[in-house]
Order: sequence, then structure tokens, then C-alpha cells
Amino acid sequence: MTMTAVAPPVIRLSAVAYTYAGPPPVRALLPTDLVIRRGEHVAITGPSGSGKSTLLNLLGLLDRPTEGLLEIDGIDVGSASERDRAAVRAHRIGFVFQSFHLLPHRTAAENVMLAQVYADMPRRRRLGAALAALAQVGLEHRAHALPTALSGGERQRVAIARALVNHPSLLLCDEPTGNLDTATTRELTDLLVSLHEGGTTLVIITHNPAVAGRAERRVTIRDGQLGESPDDGPGGQDDTPGGQDGGHGGQARSSGGQDGLPGGQGEAAGGQDTWPGRPDDSPGGRDTWPGGQDGEHETRQEG
Ligand code: ADP
Ligand code: MG
Repeated sequence: MTMTAVAPPVIRLSAVAYTYAGPPPVRALLPTDLVIRRGEHVAITGPSGSGKSTLLNLLGLLDRPTEGLLEIDGIDVGSASERDRAAVRAHRIGFVFQSFHLLPHRTAAENVMLAQVYADMPRRRRLGAALAALAQVGLEHRAHALPTALSGGERQRVAIARALVNHPSLLLCDEPTGNLDTATTRELTDLLVSLHEGGTTLVIITHNPAVAGRAERRVTIRDGQLGESPDDGPGGQDDTPGGQDGGHGGQARSSGGQDGLPGGQGEAAGGQDTWPGRPDDSPGGRDTWPGGQDGEHETRQEG
């Protein structure tokens, strides 16, 4: 039993629910209470269409809850202004996606530096910070490579470096190993575990039991309803620190009526392969960034 004080919540959901307006309306997340504390490593698993992307879009401040209270670092982000939400996204949340979302004509370091533009990091500090973030993921030696010259695992490391460069309170990963082979998945998962050991708060959505099994806490979602899996759940192995502070179990729960969710939509339902914030961003169009205002905006891609 650890005697450390309970870490403060990074995420707190109080009866948070989300309904897509439709028509017809889809009640994709039922009223949910969930607390994720600083330093936790949480996996969220569930079948296709269960509400994972909906939950991630709420946690990543891409959508606002249609009911309930959502706090990030104690900030009531559900009702904050768009400007304040953009600031929370830029400074407190790092995103990693299945399909990397790197700009193809920018080097690894430049891709990482783009995240700093939105967080208003002074220009003179950007390269050093980007190189430090790349070093954190073991890729400093590839800093000046273009994504096309990198393997899938390396590209995802760049995306993780980009997500970490502003020292977010929270790293949100949506199927981060979905495009990677088994060996690379293991390496990437090792990296995520080591980042967690270094203090990063990690929330990972994954279908992969080997990835979920490395988390110290597993939350399941089914038909918009959250549940908590015991620590010795399927795939659970390794190093769950003995005796969590006891504050975690059973903090995820849902209540409220079912309402005939159409299961089994493809993964594209929530538009997870598009850049957050703009579900209909057209590839090849203007580069956008979550919460991206323009700042000293860079680049266009081809076309
Ligand atoms: P998952 O990421 O677990 O596959 P989603 O969160 O994308 O699931 O979807 C949860 C439910 O919400 C599904 O029933 C899906 O069809 C529905 N849904 C997702 N996006 C929309 C949308 N834009 N409009 C209406 N329904 C949606
Ligand atoms: Mg999804």
C-alpha cells in the first residue's frame, strides 16, 4: 500500500453524456462519471461503434458534452469559450493517432515544431525543444528526415514527440499501434510505458489486448456505457504498482437508459482519421492543427 497522497485529477467527468444531433439523434455516450489522475496509464477498449472516438473527442476538447460537467486540470472545459478550449488543447493535451498525421514535406523536427507554433513557444526555443522531444522517443538521429524516409514505427515516434513537445498534462492516443506490425507495436508500447514511468499521464484507446494489457488501469466501453476492468483482466501482466491508492477502482460508471445504438459502424464513424477539430478537413488542403488558429502559419501542402 503506497502512502503517497492521491494525485490530482487531470480528467474528471461528472455525468457527462454525448448525443449526436442527427437526425436521428444518436446517444453515443451515456451519462458517465470518470476520474483519471495525474500519472495514470489508462487503456480504453471497446468494440467498433461503442463510443470510443466520441469519448476521445470529448477528452480532447474536439466536441463539447451535451450533458454533464467535464473538467481538465480542474478547468470546466465543457462550458469554456472556444478560445480557452483551444488554449487547453494546445498546452495541456497531446494527441497521437493511428495514422500519424505528419506533414509529408516537413522533416521530423519541423513536424514537431509545428505543435509549438500553436502553443506560442518562442521561435528561438523551438528547435531545441523539438530535438529534446525527438530524443525522448529515441529519434534524435532522424530529426532531419522526411516522414517518407521513416518506418511506420519511426513516424509514430515523431507523432509522439510532437504530442509531447509542449509538456502536456495528458497524452491521448487513439489506436496508436493500429497501423504497426507486432514487433513495432511492442516497441511502441514499451516507449509508451517508459513515458508513463517518466510521469506522463496516458490515455490510450486500443483494440489490441497486448497494448491494453500494459496499462495499469483498463476502462471498457460498450454501447456508450463505461465500465472498469479489474487489474488482473485479460492480457494483464506486468508491473501494476502494488496497491494503487485505492481511489481508482470503480470510478468509471455509466447510468441511464439505453437507446438502441446502431452498433457496428465502421471505424470511420467518428472521423478518427481526420485531423481533430475539423472532421471534414480535406487531405491536401490547408494544414490544420487541433485548435489551430493561424499564428504565423506555415505551409500548404501540394496543390
Ligand atoms: P467507436 O470509436 O467506438 O468505433 P464512435 O464513438 O465513433 O465509436 O461511435 C459511437 C456511436 O455514435 C456509433 O453508434 C456511431 O454510429 C455513432 N456516431 C458516431 N459519429 C456520429 C455522427 N457524426 N453522427 C451520428 N452518429 C454518430
Ligand atoms: Mg472510433
